[in-house]
Amino acid sequence: MNLNKNLVFFEEKLKNTSAKLIVVSKTNPIEILQEAYNLGCRIFGENRVQELVPKYEALPKDIDWHLIGTLQGNKVKYIAPFVKMIHSIDSFKLLAEVNKQALKCNRTIDCLLQIHIADEETKFGFSFEEAEEILKSDELANLQNIKIAGLMGMASNTDDSEKVRLEFRGLKTFFEKIKSIIQKPNINFQELSMGMSGDYPIALEEGSTLIRVGSAIFGERK
Ligand SMILES: *Cc1c(COP(=O)(O)O)cnc(C)c1O
Repeated sequence: MNLNKNLVFFEEKLKNTSAKLIVVSKTNPIEILQEAYNLGCRIFGENRVQELVPKYEALPKDIDWHLIGTLQGNKVKYIAPFVKMIHSIDSFKLLAEVNKQALKCNRTIDCLLQIHIADEETKFGFSFEEAEEILKSDELANLQNIKIAGLMGMASNTDDSEKVRLEFRGLKTFFEKIKSIIQKPNINFQELSMGMSGDYPIALEEGSTLIRVGSAIFGERK
């Protein structure tokens, strides 16, 4: 694994796009993150609160931390003081909890609704219908300390790239639809988080603005 070479590769890939790279650092030790930081990385993604908090505490404070994994309501309070964006909102209840904790910290937290686009039961997220209902609901207007910045989706884990492409395309179509029909103070659709090490090229072609890449940067996780 050559961290510098891998990061330069992604920098080149994204140069003529408006997409950004989220360096998914989960399971890697703080020293490796510091190395990535020294090479210029300022956006890191973690999927567990227990891992994110000590890394936040140990590393420089100009890093944007993105929580990309499933989040339990009782853990929101630990990340609310600093988290930049939560990609994995999968219930209205969780959104309300994020709002409550953000208010306590006198902050606004950017959130993405996670949409279930894969055909795998094991993946989390809203259906398009459920997401649309929440985005249209009056209750959402009461949540003044969150901003819904867009959507996140994980495609099926398959070699069938056409299937992956259609799943990403479906999410992009829904994203554009919501953007055009819903105007609310706390909705500002700008980010479409899709694409990981195995499928980011397709995700970029289908309009991703945030790719979440771990193993293609750091090597396979143990
Ligand atoms: C681990 C993880 C990634 C990165 O996966 P790689 O295949 O290592 O790039 C992206 N998104 C989520 C939600 C993850 O949990």
